[in-house]
Amino acid sequence: MSLTMPTNSPLLPPSRTGGAVPADHITNGFYGQDILSVSQFSRDNLDYIFGVAHEMQVLVERFGSADLLQGKILANLFYEPSTRTSSSFMAAMLRLGGQIIPINNVQYSSVTKGESLPDTVRTLECYADVIVLRHPELGAAATAAHYATKPIINAGDGVGEHPTQALLDLFTIVQELERLDGLRIAMVGDLKYGRTVHSLTKLLSNYNVEFVFVNPAILPMPADVLQVVENKGLRFQQTQDVHAVISDVDVLYVTRVQKERFTDMAQYDRVKDHYVVDEELMTHAKERMVVMHPLPRLNEISYAIDNDPRAAYFRQMRNGMFIRMALLAAVLGKA
Ligand code: ASP
Repeated sequence: MSLTMPTNSPLLPPSRTGGAVPADHITNGFYGQDILSVSQFSRDNLDYIFGVAHEMQVLVERFGSADLLQGKILANLFYEPSTRTSSSFMAAMLRLGGQIIPINNVQYSSVTKGESLPDTVRTLECYADVIVLRHPELGAAATAAHYATKPIINAGDGVGEHPTQALLDLFTIVQELERLDGLRIAMVGDLKYGRTVHSLTKLLSNYNVEFVFVNPAILPMPADVLQVVENKGLRFQQTQDVHAVISDVDVLYVTRVQKERFTDMAQYDRVKDHYVVDEELMTHAKERMVVMHPLPRLNEISYAIDNDPRAAYFRQMRNGMFIRMALLAAVLGKA
């Protein structure tokens, strides 16, 4: 299967479309496609997805649900823990009138018997129209897409990417600050293992933004992600000191230190509470800015700032459902 999104796609393979339908006329090239990486997105198709997500928000707020995906089935296949991504995909499908096969405990599936990922996805696509996959291995979603004929949506592949999270993050920034160009965006915490910041940085590189990467010395942003930023000619700063940059940022995107990626727990203990966003830090922040977090949070954001109007992480989480509704509708040709 193609891993990139053709923007001028003629006819998609019948196996993906269920027939010879001109894909671009329906969903801006998303119909029948996998969503594997943020590198598939351009400013144009981001505008399209955000437009559809906004319509989904209006739909949910006015009517609660619709029957757009009636008769369609989503297989939700999660090999790693998830609360938000898994349940927001399920909610998205249900709100659009579709059905779900939830496989959140792979230990109770044939995976425990030693079934391979290709065989598991080839099984699920016999029953479902689209598969959402979270897996601990980098590149797992691309592997699944190689074997599947139905669309695969990457819901996180180890330390690799989390494209749907990055889409909802960008959508949130636009909703909160009404622009992307010209913003100064700080990412704080575990930039080495945090897949959300990898995807978000790459996606934001489509815009004229400036980055500040704030991390403990042992958890820097990977070189390949910095390369994307450099290739776009964008400016970035790297520091370990969040106090030095807080007064000058429009977005403070905070991440959890990814305990599950560490082999040395003593090393994890040394860095886990390196940054804490608290009321004192927020007194130095701009009046109009946002604090975001992909969640779950541990100690890195104090509960005391949850009611600060700049704390956007709960609104961000809700936006995830609208973005996932838009993506499901788009890849299933109903947006
Ligand atoms: N929920 C996000 C992810 O799956 C962030 C995290 O786990 O820290 O990557």
